[in-house]
Amino acid sequence: MALLSEKLQQVFEEPACAKNLAKSTKERKQGCTKQLTPGAAAGGCAFDGAKIALQPITDVAHLVHGPIACEGHSWDNRHSLSSGPGTYRTGFTTDISELDIVYGGEKRLYRAVKEIIDKYDPPAVFVYQTCVTALIGDDIEAVCKAASAKFGKPVIPVNVPGFAGVKNLGNKLAGEALLDHVIGTQEPAFTTPYDINIIGEFNLSGELWQVKPLLDAMGVRVLACISGDARYAEVACSHRARATMMVCSKAMINVARKMEERYGIPFFEGSFYGIGDMSDSLRQIARLLVDRGAPDDILGRTERLIASEEARAWARIEPYKQRLRGRKVLLITGGVKSWSVVAALQEAGMEIVGTSVKKSTREDKDRIKEIMGDEAHMIDDMSPREMYKMLKEARADIMLSGGRSQFVALKAKMPWLDINQERHYAYAGYEGIVSLVAEIDKTLSNPVWDHVRAPAPWDPPQPPAAGM
Ligand code: SF4
Repeated sequence: MALLSEKLQQVFEEPACAKNLAKSTKERKQGCTKQLTPGAAAGGCAFDGAKIALQPITDVAHLVHGPIACEGHSWDNRHSLSSGPGTYRTGFTTDISELDIVYGGEKRLYRAVKEIIDKYDPPAVFVYQTCVTALIGDDIEAVCKAASAKFGKPVIPVNVPGFAGVKNLGNKLAGEALLDHVIGTQEPAFTTPYDINIIGEFNLSGELWQVKPLLDAMGVRVLACISGDARYAEVACSHRARATMMVCSKAMINVARKMEERYGIPFFEGSFYGIGDMSDSLRQIARLLVDRGAPDDILGRTERLIASEEARAWARIEPYKQRLRGRKVLLITGGVKSWSVVAALQEAGMEIVGTSVKKSTREDKDRIKEIMGDEAHMIDDMSPREMYKMLKEARADIMLSGGRSQFVALKAKMPWLDINQERHYAYAGYEGIVSLVAEIDKTLSNPVWDHVRAPAPWDPPQPPAAGM
C-alpha cells in the first residue's frame, strides 16, 4: 500500500495540468476528487478508469484480480474496436471467493496467469488490483514479478484498487503502469521522421480509423496509439516517436508529460471533433514533426489535404444545414470535450442553448466563451429536474448527452442522441462530423416523436384552448 499512496501523491502533483497548478499544496494533496452529494451517482472507480484506459490494447490478456463483479462491471463497456486480435475482449478474472479472502489470493493469481499463458499465449498479461484483493493484502507486484521471471513474458501489475479514487485517477494510474513497466522496453524495427504517438484516443466505435487515413495521406506513421487498437509491442516501442498528440483529455496527461521529460518527445493537446479542430490538429502534427527535423514538404502536403477534405465535408453537410439551421441543442457531455462539439454543431448551423462545463478546465471554458461569445450558455451542474424542465418547455429541440441522462429526455418526449463514450457511432475527423450531423438529423426527424407526443386513445379529450 505504501507504493500505491506514493503513486497517488505523484499523480496529484501534475505540473502539466493548469488546474492542478492553481491549487495550494494542501488542496493538491487531497487530489481532484470532489465530495459526493448523498444520493448522487458516483461514476466509475479507479479500477474502472484503468480498465477503460488499457483494455483497448487488443493483443493483451487483461486479468482482473478480484471478485467476478469487478470484471463484469468493467468489461468492454466502451465499444473500443480492434483491427486484429480479439484477446482484449475475453474476460479474465481470478473470481476471488470467501476462501481466498481467508487464505489470500496470490497463489490463485499466479495459477491464473499460468493458465492464460498456456492457453492464449498473449504478448503480455495485465493484472488489475481491485478493492477486495488490495484489502486482504495480496501483493500483485510480487506475483507479477515472479510470474514474469518464470514464464519469460511481461506480466504487468496495474495497482488500481477502486477505493483509491475516481475513474479519472484510474486513467492516470494506468498510464503510470505503462510508464513503469511497458514504455521503452522494446525497440521498433525501424523509425521514420514522421513517427507520432497519439495518447488518450481509445478507438471508440472505430474513431481512430476515421483519422488514420488522413495521417497516412500526410505520410505520418502512428507508432503507437495509447491505447486505441494498440498492440503491446507498439506501446513498448512508443518512446521512439518524434511527437505526441494528446487527444482532448487530460486523463493521461502524465504519460505525455513524462514521455517529454524522459525521451524528449514534445506534445500538444488537440481534438479530432469538428472540421476546424481536425484541421488544426493535422497542422500541429505536421509543424511539430518539422520542428523535430522532418522535411518541411509535409506542411504543403498537409494544407492540400486539409483543403480537399474540408471542401468534401462541407459539401456533404450542406444538405443537412438547410434542415438543421436554428435547431436548438442542449449539450450535456463529460467525456468528449465540450468546446470541440460546440464548434462542430455550430458548423452545422445549430444553436447551442446550453453546454455543460462541469468537467471542463479553465482553458476549455475560455475556448467555449471564444466560440459561443456568451458565458450564460455554460452550465456548471444541471440537475435532471432542470434538464427535464428545459426540454419540456421546448427551450431545446434535442439533447446530446451520455446514456445516463437519456431517460430525462425520453420522459420529456424529446429527441436524444448518445454522444459520450458508450456511443455506437464514430464521430471523429471530417467523416465523423458528417455522421454526427446525419445522426442528429435522423433523431430530430424520427416520426416516433409525433406519436409519443400525441394523446393516448384512452385519454379523455382535451378541452379546446381559450379563445377558440
Ligand atoms: S469499487 Fe472496488 S469492488 Fe467496486 S468495481 Fe471498483 S474495484 Fe471492484
